[in-house]
Amino acid sequence: MSLVEIQGRIAAAATAAGRDAGEVDLIAVSKVQPDERVAAVLRAGHRSFGENKVQEAAGKWPAFKETFDGVTLHLIGPLQTNKARQAMELADAIHTLDRPKLANTLARLSQEMGQCPDLFVQVNTGEEPQKAGIPPQEADAFIAQARALDLPVKGLMCIPPVDEESSLHFALLAKIAARNGLSGLSMGMSADFEKAIAFGATHVRVGSAIFGDRVYD
Ligand SMILES: *Cc1c(COP(=O)(O)O)cnc(C)c1O
Repeated sequence: MSLVEIQGRIAAAATAAGRDAGEVDLIAVSKVQPDERVAAVLRAGHRSFGENKVQEAAGKWPAFKETFDGVTLHLIGPLQTNKARQAMELADAIHTLDRPKLANTLARLSQEMGQCPDLFVQVNTGEEPQKAGIPPQEADAFIAQARALDLPVKGLMCIPPVDEESSLHFALLAKIAARNGLSGLSMGMSADFEKAIAFGATHVRVGSAIFGDRVYD
């Protein structure tokens, strides 16, 4: 478990960028990891976690939340509308608001439930056909649409193409956020979180560098 090492690298990257390390929320991405590894990170005092799947999150986080106070859970994977209610009940933030249909569903449910997690609009900065997210040129209009629905949009999120320099994508995301008056930037993973911090990331999503490799069975 290298939580302390990652925290140190985040602090150093923030300092190098002239930023306060307290501005960067380390989301420990616990998807697929064995409960014992997740418990170890909780026992070390960490409280901000990320999961990809509603089902998986529902299976493990209610019990962890009973044992450990103050957990913040971020949903960072694609969200189907038929899982939206469950996601809203479980998560403190949803990073994958990526289409009008989901925006409408979240708006309806938040009216009904009287609350809504913090939302990040996912932007498909690499315009990859297989990847979720709003195309960059449609982001401004979509953000306006989500705001008109009274959704609590706090920032933007991206997952750069694997084979491209991620800095270009981080810079683009930061530019779209700035011109829309959004302060949240969910970007950077194990391989590039320091770069993301240099470009203004407020939320870095780090999995394997904290927990070790994910073992899928
Ligand atoms: C799995 C995942 C991460 C973490 O990836 P690592 O490379 O293990 O740090 C971050 N963001 C999203 C959206 C993910 O699905």
